[in-house]
Amino acid sequence: MASVIYGVWDGKVYDNRGMDIFEVAPLPELAGFDHFNEGNVIKAFLGDRGFFVFEPGVDLLEALLNYAAKAAEESCGKCTPCRMGTSLVRERLAALHRDGFDADLLDETEQLARHVGQTSLCGLGQSCMTPLLSALDHFREMIVPGGGSQGKSPQYAMHYVTAPCIEACPAKVNVPRYIDYIKDGKPSHSLGVILQKYPMAATCGRVCVRYCEQACRRNLVDEAVGIKVLKRYVADLERDISRQWFSPEMVRSHQPAHLRVAVVGAGPAGLSCAYHLLLRGYPVEVFEARDEPGGMAARGIPSYRLPKEVLRSEAEIIGRLGGRIHYNARLGRDFTVDDLMTQGFKAVFLGLGCDKGRLLEVQGEDPNLVGLQTGIDFLLKAHECLQGNGCMTVGGVVVVVGGGNVAMDCARSALRMGADEVHVVYRRAKADMPADAEEIEAAREEGVVFHFLTSPSRIVSKDGRVTGVELVSMVQGETDANGRRSVAACPDSTQTLACDELIAAIGQQVDENSIAPSDGVRFGKRGFLNANDTTLATSRPGVFAGGDCYLGPSTLIKAMANGLKASRSIDDFLHYGRVRFFPRSRMRRIIADFRALSDDTFEAPVENKYRVQVKELDPEVRKRLFDEVEKPISTEEAYEEANRCLRCYRIYSVITESPVPDSAL
Ligand code: SF4
Ligand code: SF4
Repeated sequence: MASVIYGVWDGKVYDNRGMDIFEVAPLPELAGFDHFNEGNVIKAFLGDRGFFVFEPGVDLLEALLNYAAKAAEESCGKCTPCRMGTSLVRERLAALHRDGFDADLLDETEQLARHVGQTSLCGLGQSCMTPLLSALDHFREMIVPGGGSQGKSPQYAMHYVTAPCIEACPAKVNVPRYIDYIKDGKPSHSLGVILQKYPMAATCGRVCVRYCEQACRRNLVDEAVGIKVLKRYVADLERDISRQWFSPEMVRSHQPAHLRVAVVGAGPAGLSCAYHLLLRGYPVEVFEARDEPGGMAARGIPSYRLPKEVLRSEAEIIGRLGGRIHYNARLGRDFTVDDLMTQGFKAVFLGLGCDKGRLLEVQGEDPNLVGLQTGIDFLLKAHECLQGNGCMTVGGVVVVVGGGNVAMDCARSALRMGADEVHVVYRRAKADMPADAEEIEAAREEGVVFHFLTSPSRIVSKDGRVTGVELVSMVQGETDANGRRSVAACPDSTQTLACDELIAAIGQQVDENSIAPSDGVRFGKRGFLNANDTTLATSRPGVFAGGDCYLGPSTLIKAMANGLKASRSIDDFLHYGRVRFFPRSRMRRIIADFRALSDDTFEAPVENKYRVQVKELDPEVRKRLFDEVEKPISTEEAYEEANRCLRCYRIYSVITESPVPDSAL
């Protein structure tokens, strides 16, 4: 485990020089450093809050020089202290490294570094001098060529530039960069940054659950930057992204024709995987069980949140890039994984989704009861009805059981389909609800009644119809490993809620008939496909899985991120027969384990400025309509919102004893 010889982090000084390294207690929070690159130890680590040296013989000056050079390279150049200062610091450190110790030059370098840190406009300039200044404050004597008297050994630097919002995003979209382009009046450049990671920018700009905004450092000042709404803004400016941006000609180099890849499922994971493979020049065919693309995003997300034409238009990108989608082709019914391999596909991505709903498993439950259905079935029927395929009537009192986004979609859709009253029953507290807070609030505004800490115990029926549901109150107990408090039923707390429809939106599963035993693809413990967390490789070589069929019911952005990850793994598998080491992924792991990005201090005061208010249809009007609820923001509003971003870029460097191997990233 990593033992620090010397270093400074968050102002805390570690100095174990002169001690036997085996006597130095390792820091448990740095345990992840041992697993970065097997056989290639991390000798030092530099970041926005300081630095650590783990091995004797590290040339700290060289490490600081490399770090400063990266800062100069990353400076956007908008403010003089950072633009000029980082270059000047780099030059002076280079001179010190080349010509040897010079006290005056070191003093001058220190003054420059302090000026950069104190007067730069954004997080990059404000934080990039911290390792140097920490070293100058506490280990000045180590800033000499060759690392002092310890005798230098070879060292190599790998840098990683990120921000809290980037790390929180499953697809690692460069959020500050796309926001910068909006500030610069270049929305199409901004869209280009997003399209590097996934094809469904307008969809994501509407329905993403915004992990980035939860991590946004602007929360510490007033409110998170409206990252999602800015994404929608740039995507909506381009009316026809698929036609204007994509064509087969934009695929620069083509892979050999025999390296065919089959993607099963045209949901967010499958479309994302196909998109990235097509951009890498692979011949890709997508097999979709239904007659339209989009998976759960199409069927499960109501059009008041995501207009159908937005999703369809983005799915067309696959065709524009030369991919082919076969509709009404269901795995397990029309073909097997074995069949695909026999047909000559060299790799398969399984992005089947998990669209089989779960019932409540309580007394009185009979799947044949009229008025009882799963959330997924309800949303699917509503979707078909709105498409003009079949009809459904909803009326009276509807009870939805569950606390996720599917439950919110069911509740809000039930209102729009004609329900007089909609109740949501959730067994935990409001704070534990997995649904997006905005969705919960929107449902409440529309009149949905919430019953927290309440759980169904029996379904009441008469003559084959649901007539009500018995509910028990729950009490909270200890906090579990996930940070949620356990719940238990209160004795003698039963009450009956009369209803006409009962919707069980408590979870989904993969249709077990989709995978044949001969396919060699194993299921995991929870009933989802088993795959390697890092590579998404399943138990069958050449077959990868991602999205809801692997994660369980998840989010659009996690599914698209899986598609991206699987495309990289498939690319490696087809070229090397194995998936290589991804140093950037390991770097992310280190940063996450070490909580390197979790600082909550600001180097410069930030003026309060609240985020743009997105206009919405009036709740009284919208609750009976499937028209899109949220309205777009104006160019002026987008500019104002973009200017709230603090550009919290941070640079991290690992110093290793041999070069970190290249990867597909
Ligand atoms: S805005 Fe940030 S990155 Fe750009 S020059 Fe200023 S401090 Fe550097
Ligand atoms: S302020 Fe900007 S860079 Fe910082 S976390 Fe928020 S969106 Fe990202």
